[in-house]
Amino acid sequence: RTMSSTTVPPSPALLQPLNVPYRLLLGPGPSNVPPRIQAAGAQQVIGHMHPEMFQIMDDIKKGIQYAFQTQNPLTIAVSGSGHCAMETALFNVVEKGDVVLIGVKGIWGERAADIAERIGAEVHLLTKPPGEAFTLKDVEKGLSEHKPSLFFITHGESSSGVVQPLDGFGELCHRYNCLLLVDSVASLGGAPIFMDKQGIDILYSGSQKVLNAPPGTAPISFSEAASKKMFSRKTKPPSLYVDMSWLANYWGCDGKPRTYHHTGPITNFFTLREGLAILAEKELRLPTVTTVSVPVGYEWKDIITYLMKNHSIEITGGLGPSAGKVFRIGLMGYNSTQANVDRVLDALRDALKHCPKSKI
Ligand code: PMP
Repeated sequence: RTMSSTTVPPSPALLQPLNVPYRLLLGPGPSNVPPRIQAAGAQQVIGHMHPEMFQIMDDIKKGIQYAFQTQNPLTIAVSGSGHCAMETALFNVVEKGDVVLIGVKGIWGERAADIAERIGAEVHLLTKPPGEAFTLKDVEKGLSEHKPSLFFITHGESSSGVVQPLDGFGELCHRYNCLLLVDSVASLGGAPIFMDKQGIDILYSGSQKVLNAPPGTAPISFSEAASKKMFSRKTKPPSLYVDMSWLANYWGCDGKPRTYHHTGPITNFFTLREGLAILAEKELRLPTVTTVSVPVGYEWKDIITYLMKNHSIEITGGLGPSAGKVFRIGLMGYNSTQANVDRVLDALRDALKHCPKSKI
């Protein structure tokens, strides 16, 4: 045997075709990836420093600013899962010896405390039984007792199914000279959150939950106050990979030409961009009146008349500039039920089968 001959044989299983079963993913993440996002992931890779890639990263930044409702220039996606964003927040903003207060009402507070301990921070826990949320009074007590420089809280506590109300928390923390760090991995896009209005200093999320992109990227944003603390620290952050001075440059946030830091997950950036684009499109939809494009080849009036005559359902056509282009379907209060959604969809299906369709 020569030195160059292999001694480890190829695995027979590996030589079989890739087999991924279809699963309906109704757990707390990942969620199923819609075809449009799958298609984005099937695109050919380009270089991580190509101008087109920087444009896509700029689009992502804009998408996150919209999703977070923030104007923070320091808004990026880290190359990793939700935990990576969690570490990015804590590794950059917290230094050894800093006092931090962690709201624990499930596993995510425990994880944040673990990370903060690894940095050598003085960690205090504010705990609530799983299933409950913190009140402003609870938090004020912790702030006045421990005088932390950072308070961590989870918005969507996926381990207990509780959403944490956030109004007033930013203002309260700032009164105590404390930064507010919020985990919205499980909630962003599904429960309202307003980073700037709610005074959140650091907010992060994940790609594989409501955004429906594959796991592997995580949006994060820092307020001016958080940036100030982060960029005036005495020591380097313990991780080079998530050092925000480097990442700010990679994401074009520091006004300097971008230089190589690491090779970003290019394909995941494509998919994250599409997830954010879909969210931006969805959020413009009025929940009480759903507009549906009139299918090509049909007369809008035929369908409306068919629904009324055969299903006793009223829906209407467009109005003004949307006349002839859309149907308008109202789902208001008492009428806003799953059963009515199913009924109108069945009726529309029936109408498409029976109304005249022009050949085009
Ligand atoms: N925070 C919350 C609220 C989560 O639900 C999760 C994922 N279940 C995480 C953080 C960690 O995210 P990841 O698994 O992407 O690292």
